[in-house]
Amino acid sequence: MTTALTNEYLQQWIEIVSLRDFHIPFRHLARWNHRLSSTGGRYLLKSHDIEINPKQFVQNGAEEVERIIKHELCHYHLHLAKRGYKHQDAEFKQLLAKVGGSRYCKSLPESQKKKAEPYRYRLVCHSCGQQYLRKRKVDVKKYVCGKCRGKLALESIR
Ligand SMILES: [Zn+2]
Ligand SMILES: [Zn+2]
Repeated sequence: MTTALTNEYLQQWIEIVSLRDFHIPFRHLARWNHRLSSTGGRYLLKSHDIEINPKQFVQNGAEEVERIIKHELCHYHLHLAKRGYKHQDAEFKQLLAKVGGSRYCKSLPESQKKKAEPYRYRLVCHSCGQQYLRKRKVDVKKYVCGKCRGKLALESIR
């Protein structure tokens, strides 16, 4: 273990890179996250914290970690400035190229992704018996069966 693998070290490191390359301070928390597997790091949209994968430091060294830090800081500064902070946004790509950040990371942890909604309703055709699952309530008067154009009935599941 080197001293670089303490959160205090990482915090200072990110603060320095932020001021030097972005000219804006990093005002949130940084930490090593040992549970990140193949990804370099991530920026958390809710807390604005940055997590870096320590395996990157062990396997690829400080230079690679600094590129990952720059990548996460691109998300961070653009998000806080309400600009295009996602990978596909032109502003993100431009800033990343300007500061020389790494191309890859995972910006959103799983828990922040929208959970898939469960099916709550079932439409049943009176004529042919075909069933359709729906997440939201639908007005059965407006629709007919897609198979036979028969009348539909709405049932709630559970
Ligand atoms: Zn990213
Ligand atoms: Zn039908």
